[in-house]
Amino acid sequence: MDIKKGDNVIMLSGKDRGKTGKVLFVFPKESKVVVEKLNTVAKHLRARKQGQKGQIIHKERAIDSSRVMLVCKSCGKPSRIGKKLVGDVKVRVCKKCGAEQ
Ligand SMILES: [Zn+2]
Repeated sequence: MDIKKGDNVIMLSGKDRGKTGKVLFVFPKESKVVVEKLNTVAKHLRARKQGQKGQIIHKERAIDSSRVMLVCKSCGKPSRIGKKLVGDVKVRVCKKCGAEQ
């Protein structure tokens, strides 16, 4: 999995298709990510005490990393990620413009 926490990604499918957001969590074992404000579910909270209001909160659910694509920091386009060796370090590069991610 090439997505990292803090990456800007674009959603490729589902109701949030085409929207972008920041990666909040990654789960490498499951190949899943949680993206800020994307793939949310509404949770209805009931008033527990008198005088308190019920409310709806939106919570992000993890999505399969294959459903998002990294948005290049340099060219701003969603792109596939390539790998490049710089010295002994592997860096991620944008397949479109070649910029390091
Ligand atoms: Zn690029």
